[in-house]
Amino acid sequence: MRPAGALSKMALRRVGARIEPGVTTAELDRIAESIIRMHGGVPAFKGYGGFPASICSSVNAEIVHGIPSDEVVLKEGDIVSIDTGAVVDGWVGDNAWTFYCGTPDPLDRELCEVTRDCLKLAIDKAVPGNHLGDIGAAVQEHAERHGFGIVREYVGHGVGHVMHEEPNVPNYGRRGRGVTLQAGMVIAIEPMITRGSPKNETLANRWTVVTRDRSTAAHYENTIAITDDGPLILTEDDEGPWCPMEGGAHA
Ligand code: MG
Repeated sequence: MRPAGALSKMALRRVGARIEPGVTTAELDRIAESIIRMHGGVPAFKGYGGFPASICSSVNAEIVHGIPSDEVVLKEGDIVSIDTGAVVDGWVGDNAWTFYCGTPDPLDRELCEVTRDCLKLAIDKAVPGNHLGDIGAAVQEHAERHGFGIVREYVGHGVGHVMHEEPNVPNYGRRGRGVTLQAGMVIAIEPMITRGSPKNETLANRWTVVTRDRSTAAHYENTIAITDDGPLILTEDDEGPWCPMEGGAHA
């Protein structure tokens, strides 16, 4: 699953490097699709359940599943969650990152840093013998410590030949509870955290999930293999599994 993960990360990184005021999310979608296809992959999201694009691009109060559009022009201070997935040789990679467009509001910056750290803390728990509840609790405790909201209706998931497999990987839970993690399992961990209330709704386009109070949201995701040697992040390219927070950070 490494090639699928690496290509997913490369697409995410390249998209992030193009995020700056004036760019449309449709442009970002075209960049991701061309990179994925150029390297022999297929965009995992395009056509998935009828989704019309190769990436999800969710701006500010949009939590997940934002549809790229020529009409969405990024502006100074936006935070932009990008989700990319690639299928290579029948295996899926899935990852996401919230980038800054220019300089974010200080509280939005804190939201993003805390959500990214939720992901890191959760990955540390992805070892054999631990439980899904240990992953959820790691996310929940860190987010709540900072006073942020945890989206409950959307969760991480198993990954394999299909993008969404069992088990569900919630961003909340109790330590020691839930499915026992075993070497060989592959899961996507993806905290979705809100600055205000985590209550959400889906827009009339039937995809885009937004906070009801229109507070900002952040979303970070990696695909992780559970191994006897510890968590192995599969969504990793030559530059590693993490992206810069700053959009427009050209490599
Ligand atoms: Mg996912």
